[in-house]
Amino acid sequence: MNRDTFGRRELFKRAASVGAAGLGMGVALGVNEAHAQAPEIPLAAKVPTKKLGTTGEDIPILLMGGSNKFDMTFDKMLHRAHKMGMYYIDGGRKYGSGAAIGVFLEQVGRDNVWLTSKSGLWGGNDPDPWERYHDDFIKELADLKTDHMDMYFLHGIKHTEVLGPDYMKMADRLKKEGKTKYFGFSCHDGNVVDLMNKAATIGGDGINAIMFRYNFTMYGDLELNKAMDACVKAGIGLIGMKTQSSVPKDGEMVKKFQSNTYTLHQARLKAAWADERITACVSGINNMKILKENSTAARSQVELTAKEMTQLHRFAAQTADQRCQGCSEICETCVDGNLKIADQLRYLMYDDSYGDHGQAQALYRALDADQRDFEGVDLSAAMRACPQGINIAERLAEAKVRLA
Ligand code: SF4
Repeated sequence: MNRDTFGRRELFKRAASVGAAGLGMGVALGVNEAHAQAPEIPLAAKVPTKKLGTTGEDIPILLMGGSNKFDMTFDKMLHRAHKMGMYYIDGGRKYGSGAAIGVFLEQVGRDNVWLTSKSGLWGGNDPDPWERYHDDFIKELADLKTDHMDMYFLHGIKHTEVLGPDYMKMADRLKKEGKTKYFGFSCHDGNVVDLMNKAATIGGDGINAIMFRYNFTMYGDLELNKAMDACVKAGIGLIGMKTQSSVPKDGEMVKKFQSNTYTLHQARLKAAWADERITACVSGINNMKILKENSTAARSQVELTAKEMTQLHRFAAQTADQRCQGCSEICETCVDGNLKIADQLRYLMYDDSYGDHGQAQALYRALDADQRDFEGVDLSAAMRACPQGINIAERLAEAKVRLA
C-alpha cells in the first residue's frame, strides 16, 4: 500500500481522530478552487468485480441504478455502461423503468445482465401483504420480459420483525419457483444496525445480500461497523447506496474540494469502495456525464490519499447538523400523526445533490397529505431528539417550497 493511501481499518482510525478534531482543524485543507479532472488516471479496461457474500457470484463494484427514464428503443447509456462492465442493473417496476430495461435485456441477451429489483410490503389494510408482494414480483417479471431475477430485494424494511418466518418462506418460495436466484432486503432508515444484526443471526444462505445507506460519514459509527462485520462473517453481501450523503452545502464543498485526481463526487464513491466489506455501490446515473465520472472512479486504480480522505471527514464534521441519517424511529415517534420526516428529507437530498428534481418531486407528491403536511404539528420534541441537530421545521418547509 502506498504510504499516502490507506484501507478501511486505517480510514476508520483516521475518521475517529478527524471526528474528534472536527471543526477545530482550521482551514489548511480544501480551500482552493475545484480541480480539473487529471486526464492521466490509469484505468482498468472494465469496472472491476467482487464476490457477493457467499453467493460466490462476481458483480461489478459499480451498479446501474434503475430510477431513470431509459430510451425504449435503444438506450445509449445502458449500452455504454454494459460495455464498461456494468452488467448489473437495479431495476425497474418501482421506478417505472421496467419496460425499457426489458428492451435492453433483449438487445444484449438476458444471460449477459445481472438483474435485480425490489418491492416493498406496503401493509395498511392489505389482508395478505406477502401474497401481494409475490403478485408484484410476477408483474415485474412480465414488465421486464424475463422469467427470473438474479436477486430480488424486500424493499425499504424498517422493523426487525419483518425478517421472520414469512420472509424466509417467501425467499424459499421464489427460489424454488426459479423466479430468483438470490433474495435479500434493502433499508434506508436508521435502524439498519438492528436489521443487520438480525440478518447476521439468519446468515448468508437465508439473506444473500443487504442494500443499505452507506457513505463516508459513517466510518466512525461503531455499532454500524460491528453490525457490518457480523454480516460479512455470516456471508451476507453488502451493497451500498446513497453514497454521496448529500447536504445543502454541497455546492460550496464541491468548489473547495482539493484533489489532483478526483472530483468530490468521485471521492465519495472511492471512500465507500475503500471499505473492503462493501461489495458494490449502486448509483443513480441519469446522464452520460455522470456515467463517465462514476465509471472513471470505479475503473481508476488510484486510491484516495490521506489528504482527500481528511477533507471528506472535515466535510462530515461540518455538515452533521444538515445530514439526515434516516433514523425515522427517533423523530417520527415524537410527533402525533403520520408525518414522514425522514422521507421528506431524503427527497430533498435527491433534489439537493443528486440533481434529480423530477424524482424528488414525484416522490414528495406521492405522499399522503397527513404524511406531508407539518403545519400545526408540534415538532419541538422531534427536533430535540434528532441526534444530528437538524432544524426539522426549516427543512420540511424547504421541501414544501421546492417539491410540493
Ligand atoms: S431528522 Fe434527525 S432524527 Fe429524523 S430521521 Fe433525520 S437524522 Fe434521524
